[in-house]
Amino acid sequence: MHVMLLSCCCVLVLVLPVPCFTAPTVIPEGDWYSPAPQSDLKLATEYLQQYYNLKKEPFGRRKMSWPSFTSKVRDMQGFFGLNTTGTLDPETLDMMQSPRCGVPDVEEYNLSQGTRWNKNVITYSIGRYTRDLPRNTVDSLVASALSVWARASGLTFVRSYTRSADIMVDFVTYVHGDMYPFDGPRGTLAHAFGPGDGTGGDTHFDDSELWAAGGKGFNLYVVAAHEFGHALGLKHSRNPESLMYPTYKATRSVNILSREDVANINALYGRRPQSSWNTQYNPWLSGSLFPPRLMRNKCDPDRSFDAVSTVGDATFFFRERYLWIKHNKQNDTKEGPITNFMPKIETNIDAAFWVPRRSTAYLIHESMYWTVKGSLVKGKPKPLTNFGFPTWVHEVDAAVHMVQTGRTLFFIHDIYWSFNENRRVMDVGYPKYISEDFPGLNTTISAALQKDGFIFFFVGPQVFKYDYTQQHIVGVEKTNTWLGC
Ligand code: ZN
Ligand code: ZN
Repeated sequence: MHVMLLSCCCVLVLVLPVPCFTAPTVIPEGDWYSPAPQSDLKLATEYLQQYYNLKKEPFGRRKMSWPSFTSKVRDMQGFFGLNTTGTLDPETLDMMQSPRCGVPDVEEYNLSQGTRWNKNVITYSIGRYTRDLPRNTVDSLVASALSVWARASGLTFVRSYTRSADIMVDFVTYVHGDMYPFDGPRGTLAHAFGPGDGTGGDTHFDDSELWAAGGKGFNLYVVAAHEFGHALGLKHSRNPESLMYPTYKATRSVNILSREDVANINALYGRRPQSSWNTQYNPWLSGSLFPPRLMRNKCDPDRSFDAVSTVGDATFFFRERYLWIKHNKQNDTKEGPITNFMPKIETNIDAAFWVPRRSTAYLIHESMYWTVKGSLVKGKPKPLTNFGFPTWVHEVDAAVHMVQTGRTLFFIHDIYWSFNENRRVMDVGYPKYISEDFPGLNTTISAALQKDGFIFFFVGPQVFKYDYTQQHIVGVEKTNTWLGC
């Protein structure tokens, strides 16, 4: 019976002649409307006021202009690609109840401060955290969400630890110091201010929501990437494929940005400058996003690497079949299974080195190695004997190329070999004992890297900074600090 009544009322709402709707905001008591449509009208009114610039009625006024209400319903329906009936049909009400971004869908809104930042290096800072996730998870999801835009544009994001960063990230609830209070669970999930001074760029997440890194709850990475689009000056899109579509989507494809999003951010800030990291054809820049739940805990205090190498403008850190890529000039780290970056390489990497004058990296697995030129894995793996190793050498622990001497050093257990890259032959007199030529290093080396004139020897969770000319260790640090931990 109850159901019958409800459905009758719905029909009534749909077919009512226009003049009958006199006061959607405040329904007079004793009116014949049933509770359901009244609550629908309240919901719709609030929704349209918040997102479609429906004017609030002056205080005390009980009547509202019906034509303006209907036209706002049509605006909203048009935006979401629904039938523009102007009535609160089930599809419309359904859409109005979908969790979404708090930024309005029409342009006349105060959250917008400017159109773009007049700089390419933008600072961000995380103030209040949510308790739903560990802090380092929030840090990593926020960084990943920003790197979505960094990859698509010439922008660089630098983390700051002050309250004066361009983009201030905060998890807050209800009234929180701006003119846009949050609404408790569901409804509005987050909002962000467009570029500008003061609150410009600031991004707020409703901490009444359950935030998640995948699985149950709202995916922080997806919502943050959307909000940072606003913080950079982007508006909502009508295209459901766009990251800037206003409602929340639990699942997104690997490429979180649509073509439209990339075009829009490029229209504001220009393309990423061309370099050896070619945006259009670089497999490491496209398809390099993963569901955050697949991410390894990079800050594990026992973090160790199998191989580390410079590759172009970045440093690659290999561990089992996983790879972290730290771009030398950016604050972001990309990560994921090695095959996501280099589909041909379905194994772990034992050792890796980079020869700058050939712009070539060599990735060694057991007794074979791959050549990586520019950003592409060339051909099939080749045998290590090409370097002049005897056939009994079946694995290499670590390798590093020394720019000053033109030599590549290969470390195997307690011995090492020296390869002359100019003449492409093994130096005479090798192998030698590591401990004889590298005093202080009397252990198996996991990985090695030359940087800033030093050799960094990775030994499990520790890194030894080695002065090659002075022949001694000048510093020790935790391995995970290399991933920014
Ligand atoms: Zn939004
Ligand atoms: Zn806010």
